[in-house]
Amino acid sequence: MEDIGESLTRMIKDRNLTDKYEELIQEVLDDPDVTQFIADNRQKLDDEAIVKSYAKLYEYVQEKKKFQLKEGMMAPGYHPKLVLNYHYIDVTYVPSAELIAKQKELEIKNRIYSMDMPKDVRNAKLADFDLTDERRYAISEVYDFIDAYLTKPKEFHKGLYLQGSFGVGKTYLLGALAHELAKNGFPSTLMHFPSFAVEMKQSIGKNNTGEKLEFIKKAPILMLDDIGADSMSSWIRDDVLGVILQYRMQEQLPTFFSSNFDMKQLEEEHLRVTQRGEDEPLKAKRIMERVRYLAKEVKMTGTNRRHTH
Ligand code: ADP
Ligand code: MG
Repeated sequence: MEDIGESLTRMIKDRNLTDKYEELIQEVLDDPDVTQFIADNRQKLDDEAIVKSYAKLYEYVQEKKKFQLKEGMMAPGYHPKLVLNYHYIDVTYVPSAELIAKQKELEIKNRIYSMDMPKDVRNAKLADFDLTDERRYAISEVYDFIDAYLTKPKEFHKGLYLQGSFGVGKTYLLGALAHELAKNGFPSTLMHFPSFAVEMKQSIGKNNTGEKLEFIKKAPILMLDDIGADSMSSWIRDDVLGVILQYRMQEQLPTFFSSNFDMKQLEEEHLRVTQRGEDEPLKAKRIMERVRYLAKEVKMTGTNRRHTH
């Protein structure tokens, strides 16, 4: 004999399930996007096809909710979309505008090789650049370069030697320039020169000195940040910096510099006298000839922004 209690429980359970199921289906069928989709495709969908697609419609509504809440998504950044698959309804996932923008920004950033540079440099953008009268000249020079370079990327274009005191925004401007070039598909290499010099010195005797030097030398667009910030050994001056600049001159590759010192100071106070105290005016002159060939000196003035941010 059947246990009445048991079959009753089962009945209640089933009833609950059915009610719940109907509730869910109703919610799905009330969804405006579902209604619209069914209306748009009514000719290709008979009732049976719609019933068979309930699970898919349910998935669609649930994932849409998650997408709107930005929580628990199956594929974060992708939003669900209803499609017709033969005579059944299916759900596909398409990247959201936000995700596409994010991926694009990442692609741009991946074109900026920054070595030992502050973090915010990769986020610098010309559009965000605070325009002050003092900066206007440097920025217009940057725009001139971009115009010229984008018009004829294969020709030689003189870079800039941004000179100005600590905190005026030289590094930031180089970062913004790199970003703008990256947006147009051109990679640049931004390198903190004093750190590079230390690294080169430490790697003497190891095998990778040459590799890194080659990479820097041949970078399609190179930005040497903070040149002259540390005293240079004659080896760094002649066999590292000199070699890089010589190659870039020969190959006509755009090169930028930033420095707290103007070109004259760099020559007289930093390149001429070596770490050991030897006075080598001719060697300093040779380096400066290359710097001058490659870049135009642009003075940046203004307040120190490091304390205002
Ligand atoms: P410098 O290289 O001349 O010493 P930085 O480029 O490092 O100066 O700039 C100093 C600080 O000010 C940084 O934190 C930088 O992000 C910020 N900064 C500089 N210029 C701008 C700008 N035009 N708009 C917004 N922030 C800036
Ligand atoms: Mg700087």
